[in-house]
Amino acid sequence: MDKTQATELLFELSRPGRRTHRLPDCDVPTEGSLPASALAEGPPPLPEVGEIDLVRHFINLSTRNMSIDTNFYPLGSCTMKYNPKRHERLAAHPSMTDLHPLQSDESCQGLLAILWEMQELLAEIAGLDGVSLQPAAGAQGELTALLMAAAYFRHKGERRSRVLIPDSAHGTNPASAALAGFDTVSVKSNSRGLVDLDDLRSKLDERTAVFMITNPNTLGLFDDQIATITELLHHKGALVYLDGANMNAILGITRPGDFGADMMHYNVHKTFTGPHGAGGPGAGPIAVRKQLVPFLPTPLVARSGERFYLDYDRPQSIGRVRSFFGNVGILLRGWLYIRTLGPRGLREVSENAVLNANYLLSRLKGVYEVPHGERCMHEFVASAWTLKRERKISAMDIGKRLLDFGFHAPTVYFPLVVKEALMIEPTETESKETLDAFADALLQISREDADFLHEAPHELALSRPDEVKAAKETVLRWQAPSTP
Ligand SMILES: *Cc1c(COP(=O)(O)O)cnc(C)c1O
Repeated sequence: MDKTQATELLFELSRPGRRTHRLPDCDVPTEGSLPASALAEGPPPLPEVGEIDLVRHFINLSTRNMSIDTNFYPLGSCTMKYNPKRHERLAAHPSMTDLHPLQSDESCQGLLAILWEMQELLAEIAGLDGVSLQPAAGAQGELTALLMAAAYFRHKGERRSRVLIPDSAHGTNPASAALAGFDTVSVKSNSRGLVDLDDLRSKLDERTAVFMITNPNTLGLFDDQIATITELLHHKGALVYLDGANMNAILGITRPGDFGADMMHYNVHKTFTGPHGAGGPGAGPIAVRKQLVPFLPTPLVARSGERFYLDYDRPQSIGRVRSFFGNVGILLRGWLYIRTLGPRGLREVSENAVLNANYLLSRLKGVYEVPHGERCMHEFVASAWTLKRERKISAMDIGKRLLDFGFHAPTVYFPLVVKEALMIEPTETESKETLDAFADALLQISREDADFLHEAPHELALSRPDEVKAAKETVLRWQAPSTP
C-alpha cells in the first residue's frame, strides 16, 4: 500500500445496503413488544460496508502504527523494550484470565501466591520492606506514596507542607505532589546535570516532607551525591522518594533502599516489559521503608503458612487506590519477566541497557552535543541546539525526519533543562545492527537540507498535523457532509 495515501474513513466507504453478514428475517411478532417511546426513529447512522472492505480498512490502518514489534522505538525515559511473546502467552492463559476478582481467596490461591511473590521480589529489588501492587501507573504510585507520607507525618503530629523536586524531574512529580496537597519547590540542577546541593540546602527546612528524586535522573546520569542527599533529608526528618522510572539502569547493581530512599514506584510497563504505548494499562507498584508500611493501601496480599489471603485488617492504611488487586495482567508479565531472568539476568539487563546507550552516545557525540556527561546510564540527552542556531534545524525536524527512516522519534523537548533536547533510550533488547542504522540515520539527517527537513516526514500518510489544534479541537464524531 502507498503509505502516503490518506485512508478513507469507514463512513466514507459506506454504501447503503452493504453488510458483512445478513440475519434471517425476524419470524416473531415485534408489533407492540416495546412502547413507542422506547423505539428509535430509524436505524442508527452506522457505516454500511462489506466484510472484505472492513478487514482491509483496519488491517491497513494497523500498518500505520509504530510499535515496538514493528520499529526501533528509542523514546527516552519510557523504556520501550521488547515484550517477550512467551510472557504475553502465559499472562493470557485461561487459568489466569478466567479468574474473577470477586472470587474467594480460597478459590484463587495460585494467583494470590504469584502476587504475594511479586510483592516480595519488588521489595528485594528495591531494598525496601513493604510493597503495594495497587497503583495503576507510575504517576498513581507517586500520588499514593505522597498520600502515605502525608498520613505518616499526620500520625507523628508534624506539619510539613512542602515537596522538593529537581528541575529535571518528570512533570508527574510536581503534579502528584500538588494533587496530594503539598506545595512544590523546585531545586536547581548544577552544571553537571545533578542536584545542586547548595540550592537543596537553602530550600530544605522543617517544612519539607519529601524530596522526590529520579536516579538515574532524566539526563541519564546517576547522581553520585545521593548518599549525601538522603542524609541531608533524613537529618531534617524528611522522607526521600525515588521515581523508579529509570530502574532499567540499576537492576541488581544498586538498590534505592540501600542509597537511602524511603519510598519508590516501579513502572512495570517500562522496567519489566508490560507492553505500553497507546496509553495503557500500566502498573506502578510502590515499595516503602518499614515505618511507612502501616500506611500502604489496603488490601495487601498476605501469607499465613501455606495460605494466601487479602489482608484488610490494616487500621492505619490510607485505603484503596485501585479496584481489586491492581492491573493484574501487567503484574503477571512483570512477574514472569523477573522469574525468567532471575537475579543475574536482571543485572545483565541493566548492564546491556547501559552499554547500548553508551555505544549510541559515542557514535553521535561528535555531531550532536551531549551537554551533560561523557558517559551515561541507560539513556542520554543530546541537543540539536547548535544545528538550530546555525542551520535552523530543530529537534522536532529531526524527530519527524526519523520517521521516514522507520524509527520512532526519541523523546523531544524533555527534560526542560536541555535546549532542543533529544532524549535517546535504546534499551538492552536492540542489536548492534539496529543501533548502527539509527546512528547512521541521525548522522545523515544532520547533513540534510534545512528546508527539506522542515517538511519531514515525507513518506507518511500525514506529515505535520497541527498537534495543538488536534488536542484542543478533537473531532471524534464523523458528520455527513450536508446535502445541498
Ligand atoms: C514514565 C515516567 C513517569 C510516569 O509514569 P507513568 O507510568 O507513565 O504514569 C514518572 N517519572 C518518569 C521519570 C517517567 O519516565
